[in-house]
Amino acid sequence: MTVLLPGATLGVMGGGQLGRMFVHAAQRMGYFTAVLDPDESSPAGRVSHHHVQAEYLDEIGLARLCGHSDAITTEFENVPADALARIAEHRFVAPGAAAVSIAQDRALEKAHFTRCGVPVAPNAVITNEEELAAVADDLLPGILKTARLGYDGKGQVRVKTRDDLRAAWEGLSRADCVLEKMLPLAFECSVVVARGRDGTVVNLPVQRNLHRDGILAVTEVHPGCVPEALAQRAVQATRTIAKGLDYVGVLCVEFFGLADGSLVVNEMAPRPHNSGHWSMDAADVSQFELQVRTLAGLPLVQPRQHSPSIMLNLLGDLWFARGADEATPDWAAILALPGTHLHLYGKLSARKGRKMGHLTLTGATPEAVRATALQAAQLLGIPAF
Ligand code: ATP
Ligand code: MG
Repeated sequence: MTVLLPGATLGVMGGGQLGRMFVHAAQRMGYFTAVLDPDESSPAGRVSHHHVQAEYLDEIGLARLCGHSDAITTEFENVPADALARIAEHRFVAPGAAAVSIAQDRALEKAHFTRCGVPVAPNAVITNEEELAAVADDLLPGILKTARLGYDGKGQVRVKTRDDLRAAWEGLSRADCVLEKMLPLAFECSVVVARGRDGTVVNLPVQRNLHRDGILAVTEVHPGCVPEALAQRAVQATRTIAKGLDYVGVLCVEFFGLADGSLVVNEMAPRPHNSGHWSMDAADVSQFELQVRTLAGLPLVQPRQHSPSIMLNLLGDLWFARGADEATPDWAAILALPGTHLHLYGKLSARKGRKMGHLTLTGATPEAVRATALQAAQLLGIPAF
């Protein structure tokens, strides 16, 4: 396939905030864009040249998306892999259905990590009574996670005893699950890589992540934010995981750093990731431009981070910080701080736990960025970190 130069139309399955930021990156470079999403006011659909308002498996919708687009990517890992396989009959699609379907299933994903020689948390797959009964005591306390369709901590239950485990599995309607041993985390980190059609791989630096209630809250990126030896291991592991999938596109892999100094892989996302959003403001190539480049077949060059940065996720909770009525946070006060970059996703209403936007802070030194980030957090009602 030839390189798609600006002027071509890039399509995306899914119209959430990741699609919106992909559309912005593509448009900035002179591409036209098309989004398929069932929601008439989806964040990406509202800013795209074309919005095909249809369900992900709708034949006519998929045909219309193909009609608009020269190549198609995905922004939402729960887009049915089958839909990607169908559009791939007509258009170049990256990432491909095979890689996405592995990332959509925790059991398949763990098997892939193990094949790549990257350690995973001790775990057991539970799909029936026998497997439930056979779970080793050593996996408790643990976290029961649905194998498919979980995100932001949804579809997960923490369990201490066998009785808890059974109740949790019943509570998840006996869906196929993976039970993971609860690990003593020293820190969490993630790595974003982009892999081109010719096999070239580039990466963003390691990102240190803080989750609260199973949702990403803060990402910090500067040299030394993760011990150097572990950072190198995480980057190498992510590159190996992408290569092993023969992946084309942007891939994010999440890791746990354990108290004993070891590194364990958690999961992967076949798309740009919340923990890579800082790259829009603090790197010379963002994760969304990497997605555009991999889809269009443009060259990949190693991104360079030019400022230390911290990203604060802006969840819907902040809109209720001053009481039961929805109230917009005081953005003017935030923007009065140096090095603040406000990103709001254009969602029409706030809900607790809903990702409404993020705030990136950049500065000359990690200490300066941290001081401003803590000030911003305090103004917004985000607990200190
Ligand atoms: P995402 O929004 O990243 O897709 P998710 O719903 O897929 O999230 P996970 O990444 O599996 O969920 O878990 C969410 C968080 O829960 C992790 O980032 C970590 O903080 C905690 N967690 C998950 N598994 C474990 C574990 N085995 N031991 C300790 N903590 C864990
Ligand atoms: Mg996760």
